[in-house]
Order: sequence, then structure tokens, then C-alpha cells
Amino acid sequence: MTSGPLVLRGTVSLLLVLLALALLAASISGVAPTGSIATEGAKPAAEASLPAATHPYQTETVRGKVVWLDEALKRLYNVTTEGDAAETIVALETPDGQLLPLVPDTRGRAFAVDQRLRNIDLEMLVRRYQGVPLLQVIRLYRVKPEGLYEIDYWCDTCAISMFILKACECCQGPTRLRETPVEK
Ligand SMILES: [Zn+2]
Repeated sequence: MTSGPLVLRGTVSLLLVLLALALLAASISGVAPTGSIATEGAKPAAEASLPAATHPYQTETVRGKVVWLDEALKRLYNVTTEGDAAETIVALETPDGQLLPLVPDTRGRAFAVDQRLRNIDLEMLVRRYQGVPLLQVIRLYRVKPEGLYEIDYWCDTCAISMFILKACECCQGPTRLRETPVEK
């Protein structure tokens, strides 16, 4: 009698096929599990040339302080970096000691340009792109005992907002760091 094992083998094969289909469906959908960085599903080569915004990302709220990466690597992990690398990269230091470098776009560079943004308690809305170990800052809040304050740079003359310390894009006059209380 061989029908028993044959049936069993057939059932196992069917289960494996179903599992493979489920994994395929999950990778096509591109939806990452909440609360973690997706690691499955390498992107096809054709997608590599697409703009970054089309790649899968998760939006998360994170808290911590932004610090120079070289200083924090030394302080937290006793890792010494090259002198030339000092104060070139900023990272979010989370309360549990993770160092998460920031994408050096306007929002991320703002921390390198203005020391008032570093070493203060922050909450940030960030994007985490699949396959990229850097955070992209979308919104920035300062955390104070009484609540959150959205941070930007403001020109009182033109009444426009900017996300990095610089002269006003409109009148070239001075801008000021603005902290606006938010309801949350
Ligand atoms: Zn202006």
C-alpha cells in the first residue's frame, strides 16, 4: 500500500505551492509590516531608476535627539571615526541608544546648519524607505513638558516658512526660528 504516503506527499506539495503563492502576493503588494523595516522582496532592476517617492516607504513617528554621528558613535559605542568625518552626518539618537542617520535633504541638513536643533527633545514624522537605513524627516516637533511645538523658520516680512536656517527666499532678509504649539 503506497496510497497513504502518496496522498501525504500530494498534500505537502499543495501546501508548499500555496505558501509560495502567498509569499509572491505579499512581495507584489509591497506593503511592509507595520512597525518594522521591510526586508523581503528585492525590487526588480527596472525600478531602480524610478524617483525615490515611488518606492515603498513607511511613515513613522519617532522620538529622540539629533546629534552628530561621530560624537554619538564615540560616546555610545566607543567607535572612533576619522577626523575629517567629524560633524558631517547627523543622526537621531533614540532613548534606547539607537543611532538613525538622517537623509541630508533640506529637513535633514537643517540639523547640521543650526545647532539650536541639536540635543533637544524632538518628535519627528519620518519616512523609512525599504532598503535605506536613513530617516527622511517630514515634520519636526520640539517636545516640551507642556506639549509639542512645530519647528520652522519664519520671515516676518514675507510671512513665509522655510525648513532650514537661511536668509528669506523672498526678501533675502533674516528669518527666525519659530516654535508653534500644536494640538495633538
Ligand atoms: Zn522675507
